[in-house]
Amino acid sequence: MTQSNTNFDVIVVGGGAIGLATAYYLSKRGASTLVLEQFTFQNQLGSSAGVSRQFRIPYPDEYMVQMALDSMPYWDELQTHTSATLLDKVGTLWFGDPTVQSTEGNIAEAMKSLDALGVPYTSLTAQEIESQYHFKNIDPNYTGLFQADGASIDFRATIKTLYDQCQQSEHVTLQQESPVINIEQTSGIFKVTTPNGVVQAEKLVTVPGPYVNSVINFLGFNIDQIIYWNMASAYFRKTDPTIQYPTWFVFQNAIGDNGNQFYGFPEVGWDHPDYIRVAPDFVMETVPEPNQRSLVPNEQELAYNSEWVKNHMTGLDPTPHFMSTCLVGLSTIPNKETLIDFAPVFVPNHKNIVVSTTGWVAKFTPYLGKILTDLALDGETDIDLTPFRLGHKYFKAFQLPSLNTY
Ligand SMILES: Cc1cc2nc3c(=O)[nH]c(=O)nc-3n(C[C@H](O)[C@H](O)[C@H](O)COP(=O)(O)OP(=O)(O)OC[C@H]3O[C@@H](n4cnc5c(N)ncnc54)[C@H](O)[C@@H]3O)c2cc1C
Repeated sequence: MTQSNTNFDVIVVGGGAIGLATAYYLSKRGASTLVLEQFTFQNQLGSSAGVSRQFRIPYPDEYMVQMALDSMPYWDELQTHTSATLLDKVGTLWFGDPTVQSTEGNIAEAMKSLDALGVPYTSLTAQEIESQYHFKNIDPNYTGLFQADGASIDFRATIKTLYDQCQQSEHVTLQQESPVINIEQTSGIFKVTTPNGVVQAEKLVTVPGPYVNSVINFLGFNIDQIIYWNMASAYFRKTDPTIQYPTWFVFQNAIGDNGNQFYGFPEVGWDHPDYIRVAPDFVMETVPEPNQRSLVPNEQELAYNSEWVKNHMTGLDPTPHFMSTCLVGLSTIPNKETLIDFAPVFVPNHKNIVVSTTGWVAKFTPYLGKILTDLALDGETDIDLTPFRLGHKYFKAFQLPSLNTY
């Protein structure tokens, strides 16, 4: 819907998956909502780039397992709005060295959390991983688990469905090519400036993904416990069309500069038929600032990725195709993946500013939209967000350099 009005109940800054999901839930509550996106909607320059993501339930922390379980009805609801299959339930396979900790977690701890919450899974030996899932030359000491509710997310269709729903809603205005370049507050009203003009609202939801500081800096705070990964990805042609992999992740210790953690997908109908995606889950170097990321994948990371495919996967040609990058912001707070909080108390009307950033949150997309909506409209949600209310650790007061100068 287009609206000449410049006053809204809520302005959502960031039109990636989470921004659109938030606008979708805000519209269900009848809140007039503006989504500002600096690039175009469905762009390839944020964390929602690419077309597939993994939905998985295994996590070392029980609250993350619970979050994944709780998000499932929200996926079911979103599914009613599209004929595309949003979650292709091929299962989650986790395998490798059970002592290894990665940004995804740890196998042994995840088994404990699944047990505690009664989530069914199958334990696997190295031999079973090879015989049942097409991998080869697996270290005999490796263990694994298979959890049947894991899925390959058609992320492009997810984002399109949310975008279409927002566009059809009388409550949502979508504005692209509108980078936020200033935010001011007057009498409890946020005035948000983009090159297209000034818009205003009483509430803000800031979901700018890895670009989070570029937005919250205008509000007088900053996050420094964040690193930026410009992640490489590639596809491999199937030489054996009968082989189908689940979504999978391998936990291994790094070897020199080879981070040695990889993940992959099945062949899916929505993405390069006859090819499957396999990617490194590490970067050899972090990016100092989001605007310094490259769209060219790191060659050495891709070489390690192909080596893994060649040495450990069957039915694939190890030549990489369709290479790309995707930028993600990750928390440097140990075992804390995602921040969902209000702005810090030193910011006036801090409870009218909701911030969410960092982590692997594609799997929570619709659920996170609902949570951020509750926080924005009600100032609370019935979900226990204690593990995600990390603002006291993340947020630091920040003054824009130009404000110092004048
Ligand atoms: C390679 C890779 C693999 C991943 N795999 C998984 C996975 O398997 N499972 C999983 O759950 N998650 C995964 N993730 C993480 C997941 O994709 C992200 O958590 C999710 O896409 C974040 O969405 P978002 O909307 O918060 O951020 P983004 O998609 O980055 O959206 C933020 C938007 O805000 C806009 N923006 C920023 N600043 C401004 C501004 N000043 N003004 C206006 N607009 C602005 C940006 O342009 C951007 O479009 C993966 C990420 C990557 C990179």
